[in-house]
Amino acid sequence: MKRCLFPGSFDPFTKGHEAIVHQALHLFDEVVIGVGINSKKQGLFNTDKKIAHISALFETEPRVRVGSFQKLTVEFCKDIAATHIVRGLRDAKDFEYERSIGHMNHAISGIETVFFLTAQAHSALNSSIIREMYQNGADISPFVTRPELLV
Ligand code: ADP
Repeated sequence: MKRCLFPGSFDPFTKGHEAIVHQALHLFDEVVIGVGINSKKQGLFNTDKKIAHISALFETEPRVRVGSFQKLTVEFCKDIAATHIVRGLRDAKDFEYERSIGHMNHAISGIETVFFLTAQAHSALNSSIIREMYQNGADISPFVTRPELLV
């Protein structure tokens, strides 16, 4: 039984994130999507709404579970018995950032990070731009599945 954690702020959870989960399901028996709670960085969308939204997107996939955590990612991995962390890579900037975190996480816990390249169609999807659009009244449904569940 191989279980991974896909952690993120998911503010909001985009079609890019959704695709990464489907990619991870090819390698892992179970994917736990962990919505990280950062006390210093209040998100735009409420954590309970994010969890309800993501859960609805995977309601027919019993191998996906959704939860939130407010501790070190590797500590949460241990709590849920996840052997790997999954992250998505859009570009070189993501790679540089993820490489440092991946090395640090491995150094403190021995837990490895597995990276999936985003599909080309999703490489420009970015939660912060989507938040900006949403706050200015744009329709975000091209980028987020069932965005009505977030409000
Ligand atoms: P964090 O605040 O932890 O970076 P995000 O919600 O922004 O959380 O991203 C979570 C993970 O999803 C990261 O690995 C990020 O690189 C990846 N990601 C973000 N957007 C996309 C996308 N459009 N396609 C694939 N992966 C993505």
